Amino acid sequence: MKEDCVFCKIASKEIKADIIFENDDFFVIRDISPKVKGHSLVIPKKHFVTFLDIPTKLYENLLKTTKKAVNLLSKETGNKDFNLLTNNGPVAGQIVNHFHLHVLPRQKNDGFRCGVD
Ligand code: AMP
Repeated sequence: MKEDCVFCKIASKEIKADIIFENDDFFVIRDISPKVKGHSLVIPKKHFVTFLDIPTKLYENLLKTTKKAVNLLSKETGNKDFNLLTNNGPVAGQIVNHFHLHVLPRQKNDGFRCGVD
């Protein structure tokens, strides 16, 4: 746990978040400032700054957790299309320095632009 890290504080339940589900290694919350309907974040419980800091042994659970989140959110929003996005480092737009993966369910004409299209 890193002091002054908002996602560490959510992991330890020191501050509240809208948690969709959690398992031993990860939790999934709704983004506080959603860019699209259903915008959520997959976050490791331990503090890792970027993707490169995540230990190999967590890779499988990261993908499984992400898949479960996508399926739940697709059901909720009624559309199966989605983007996965992760900002790593300040130049890449990372604001919260605790790794997180954005799950962005997509709707036709929702106005979201990923930057790689
Ligand atoms: P970034 O670091 O740029 O990939 O984005 C950080 C994301 O975390 C933004 O989309 C924020 O809206 C989101 N965020 C920041 N604080 C919270 C919070 N307390 N609960 C949920 N989402 C948050």
